[in-house]
Amino acid sequence: MDLFEYQGKQYFARYGIAVSPGGVADTVDEAVVVAQRVGYPVVLKAQVKVGGRGKAGGVKVANDVEEVSEHARGILGLDIKGHVVKRLWVERASDIAKEYYASFTLDRANKTHLGMLSAQGGVEIEVVAEENPDAIAFLSIDPVQGLSLATARRWVSEAELDEIAREQTAELLVKLYDCYTNGDCDLAEINPLILTPDNEVHALDAKVTLDENASYRHPEWEEFRGDEFDDPREKLAKEKGLNYVGLDGTVGIIANGAGLAMSTLDVVNQVGGTAANFLDIGGGANADVMAAALEVINADPKVKSIFVNIFGGITRVDEVANGVLEALRRVTINSPIVLRLDGTNALEGRAILAPHLSDHLIAEPTMLDAARRAVALAS
Ligand code: GDP
Ligand code: MN
Repeated sequence: MDLFEYQGKQYFARYGIAVSPGGVADTVDEAVVVAQRVGYPVVLKAQVKVGGRGKAGGVKVANDVEEVSEHARGILGLDIKGHVVKRLWVERASDIAKEYYASFTLDRANKTHLGMLSAQGGVEIEVVAEENPDAIAFLSIDPVQGLSLATARRWVSEAELDEIAREQTAELLVKLYDCYTNGDCDLAEINPLILTPDNEVHALDAKVTLDENASYRHPEWEEFRGDEFDDPREKLAKEKGLNYVGLDGTVGIIANGAGLAMSTLDVVNQVGGTAANFLDIGGGANADVMAAALEVINADPKVKSIFVNIFGGITRVDEVANGVLEALRRVTINSPIVLRLDGTNALEGRAILAPHLSDHLIAEPTMLDAARRAVALAS
């Protein structure tokens, strides 16, 4: 789960990382109230889960009430790379002497954590990596050993941060690493990490991705959810515990296994159709899962046909067939369903379905035939 900047800053603050005082605002009036509370000058920042907000006009400094109103009006509703701004973060503006970059992420190939630190922050790290790769100090961190203050001190010198910023930054990096590991992040990034003219080191931005595999030990993450799903279909799918991604097409797709689900999208495209979703029901495709999957797809008004593509491995096709029939008894489906059932116990499964086939429940022997049929029914 990606966090908004203001949530990322809340998360940082729990680990003792310095951030500016501020508050969220969903309207111009709220922005004025928050600005009054934190004190001028303030910076108004678009809360969208995409980088480069500054360049897109989503970050503005305001010195008085008039400027707050003007900028809040300008930023709320702004479209930044397809994300419409619905919320602002208003914080006390900082004076900036230097902009640095700091992050931790997972280095899967190396089986370690990866720290990146640069004295050239403020711009996208991809650009620094491209144009001036030597300006980034990389640090591989053994997850068992962790990051000591001594190592962090060596790291800040290697990155050639200004002398005056080094000790504070080393301490901050240890806290950020604590947040990243104990806070179960996949990414914890600060860009820019600033040095103020008063020689304070301070996080001016926060980009945090939480590792959903760890959500069971973080009940407090619930507060970060809510405006997570713009797509009501994805919200419903999440409630049903399904692995679902909404798309724009007209053929609803149910498959077992992520690989087969992706191949199904490809085949639907190949025969001239468009997929309404990606949905992997995983192993054990019982009636509960099948009913939940059909319900989610049924709730999508764009869907004109449903392609159920099951290849039985450990999952037995006869169980799937019973699951489909049981699901159809529970849910009334608007669109015709095209089934392709193959693999373990395919013949038994097809025999179970045979008496129930109609122009609303169609079986096809191959994936390609089924895709053609589903696409024809959708158009
Ligand atoms: P991003 O563009 O989405 O990464 O948003 P950032 O939060 O990183 O802000 C972009 C840029 O706005 C920063 O690199 C700063 O140069 C500038 N900025 C952000 N906050 C402040 C502030 O409090 N004071 C000043 N002077 N500039 C700021
Ligand atoms: Mn930034």
